[in-house]
Amino acid sequence: MSQYRTGIGNDIHRLVEGRRLILGGVGIDFDRGLLGHSDGDSLSHAIVDALLGAAGLGDIGLHFSDRDPRWAGADSGVFLRHAASLLTDDGYEIANIDGTILAERPKMQPHIPAMRERLAGILGIEPGRINIKAKTNEGLDAIGRGEAIGALVVATIVRVREQR
Ligand code: MG
Repeated sequence: MSQYRTGIGNDIHRLVEGRRLILGGVGIDFDRGLLGHSDGDSLSHAIVDALLGAAGLGDIGLHFSDRDPRWAGADSGVFLRHAASLLTDDGYEIANIDGTILAERPKMQPHIPAMRERLAGILGIEPGRINIKAKTNEGLDAIGRGEAIGALVVATIVRVREQR
């Protein structure tokens, strides 16, 4: 039986006025925020998809439909916590998460330590298991024009006991 499994996740949300910018569970001062049924946290959503993918449990839309009123305005920490609990139930532990935020502005670097702390706290792992990077799209496409913020994530999980 394979002990390690890897999943990939990606997400993108449109930047709009009148919304608070939240990424990796951290509020960031900016003139716009991410539009979404939930809080629009594209980094957290990509992490959820990577974790679910690694465990063979489908995707975020399967577990948290954007037509379900329960998730309107939801803190994406709820999705992360639920994904982590599904993995635990199946006998897995998160080995590591590596993510890249794709954003033209604002500067993400100052917020990355807080994101790692926050995400680690929600997922119940050490911050050392989470790496977050950020890059611009060099002025190209919707992200490059500052119309959206995206994220790419790879997660690896490891079996620590037999499935219940
Ligand atoms: Mg999303």
